[in-house]
Amino acid sequence: MFYLDNAATTPVPSEVLNVSLPYLTEHFANPSSVYDLGMANARAIKASREKLAKVFQVPSEGIVFCSGATESNFLALMSCAQAARLKGKQIIISELEHPSVSNAAIFLQNQGWQIDKVRTLPEGIVDVAHLESLLSTNTRLVSCLAVSNEIGTKQPLEKIGALIKHKNPQALFHVDATQALGKIALPLSSAPIDMFSIGGHKVGAPKGIGALIMTHSLPVVPIMSGGGQEHGWRGGTENVFGIVALSEAILLIEKQREETYRHMLTYKRQWLDFLTSQHPEIRRFESEHVLPFYLNLALTPIPAEVFLHHLEAQQIYVSTGSACSSNKKNKIKSIWPMVGVNSTIANSMIRLSFAKQNLSEDLNQLFQQFSQVVGTLKQIR
Ligand code: PMP
Repeated sequence: MFYLDNAATTPVPSEVLNVSLPYLTEHFANPSSVYDLGMANARAIKASREKLAKVFQVPSEGIVFCSGATESNFLALMSCAQAARLKGKQIIISELEHPSVSNAAIFLQNQGWQIDKVRTLPEGIVDVAHLESLLSTNTRLVSCLAVSNEIGTKQPLEKIGALIKHKNPQALFHVDATQALGKIALPLSSAPIDMFSIGGHKVGAPKGIGALIMTHSLPVVPIMSGGGQEHGWRGGTENVFGIVALSEAILLIEKQREETYRHMLTYKRQWLDFLTSQHPEIRRFESEHVLPFYLNLALTPIPAEVFLHHLEAQQIYVSTGSACSSNKKNKIKSIWPMVGVNSTIANSMIRLSFAKQNLSEDLNQLFQQFSQVVGTLKQIR
């Protein structure tokens, strides 16, 4: 099979599974238990936290493990809003945000917060000039993703961060780094990011684990205190298996990041050469900001879903967009008008997302099967 949907989720490599699996079986004790069986698990969590703190160069107390990027984004927005309730009333998010941010913002809007959305430029990045016009002394938080899950564009976080702190040093900068992790280095030393969100299953950890990472001590309050786990930030018995797997997966993916990036450049170039020479009729979304891990293409007027299922019949797995939004009734992705793609092309757009497991040596076979599908679809269009 050819799995080209790595932005939706990724498999857990054996290196990660081998290290974490014992935390479901022999090391099953509750990390809050005061006998050694439990405390050993608390130590495993601490070690994982310290490993991640070292990778990201942040204080280990700033790492809050939770159930995934959705919860992490929610925690970031809600806890900042709680803390700033009496002090300010504006939150700014980008138009490109994943629903876990945009729906959290709607929730806050219903509670009286002013939510402003920064426009997107046709090349798929945040319009920094528009952000500048929105920022005010009332801004308490700006949330922007690092890489778009739908079109794969890398956002200008340094510029955004510098602008926020210049216009209003009190405003916090939150970054949803879910799609960036393991693909690019987060500009943590060059951008004043206050906190960022990550999700495990995009980087070879299991589903159901993620983290909110604060780069320094922040005036925010927990929204789920519970039994006081995670330094009181997020109550609930810890997912020790997930935490151990997350730290192991991130260590692995970060170690391989540069090599993977180089491989992806070659791999995507091979795809583009193939499409240009064999299928010039296939439209592509192109921008210098799209990372080599993503490729959006359309065979108009074939609906994306039809293209997807024909590819599936050849065991080629792609997406019609973000998997998280694919159960919405309206299948036309709202992102396309923002980047100047008309609705006919938008209706046909599928997303291919690559990872290091996608090998150049498999491309001959893959291209052959892909061409067969395109040939069939061209007859019916
Ligand atoms: N943010 C982005 C940018 C994403 O791509 C996703 C997953 N599609 C999420 C947040 C939500 O992640 P999770 O599945 O870990 O909740």
